[in-house]
Amino acid sequence: MSHILVVEDEEKLARFVELELIHEGYEVTKSGDGREALELATNNSYDLILLDIMLPGLNGLEVLRRINNPGGPHTPVILLTARDAVMDKVSGLDAGAVDYITKPFAIEELLARIRVALKLHPAGAALQGTSGSGDTAHVAGDDQEGIHRWKSLVLDEKKHRVTYDGKEITLTNREFEMLKVFLTNLDIVMTRDTLLEKVCGYDYVGETNIVDVYVRFLRSKIDEAFDVKMIETVRGVGYVIKS
Ligand code: CA
Repeated sequence: MSHILVVEDEEKLARFVELELIHEGYEVTKSGDGREALELATNNSYDLILLDIMLPGLNGLEVLRRINNPGGPHTPVILLTARDAVMDKVSGLDAGAVDYITKPFAIEELLARIRVALKLHPAGAALQGTSGSGDTAHVAGDDQEGIHRWKSLVLDEKKHRVTYDGKEITLTNREFEMLKVFLTNLDIVMTRDTLLEKVCGYDYVGETNIVDVYVRFLRSKIDEAFDVKMIETVRGVGYVIKS
């Protein structure tokens, strides 16, 4: 049974979500305070956290950042955001949220997103993805599987690491996934829909311009930082990295 932490200070909404989740067979813990939620997340192992942004104590984005800090619990988080708060969504996804849902939401949509998030991020996967040091049995170079290259750029799937000319580039999970999609499809033009599906999941229901936002992040961290032209725009279609 999956255990979900619901962090929401609007009591009626929190209670409603709790009852629906219990009805669906989930185990639920509730918190209405950011600081308390962070403490709960750190000291327990939840499968998923539903996290409101506007919270007393510590705001949701800050809680999210601390959850995804090195040494944090790295529990998958779905953010609950206010309508039109585009910056919250972008900062939230960039800080490592696996998805977001805009309030007010239909409970069916929330349940669908929870199912997808639990399927894509099974318990413990987040921790494995970020550890890296547990991987020392693999001597560098003894196994090229999961290593993708473009010019001086190297993406190592197992170590979840990207370097350019040996310099480490810090990417969020979503940026990493998107870069991986491009590198495993060199010379193939990727449409926004394809990228959205591969990076955000098949059931993702959000703005497709989120793809453009991630391409912009990748370009600023790679193209601009290393003065190369890696991701090319194909007008009206999408993006491509050419070999
Ligand atoms: Ca709130």
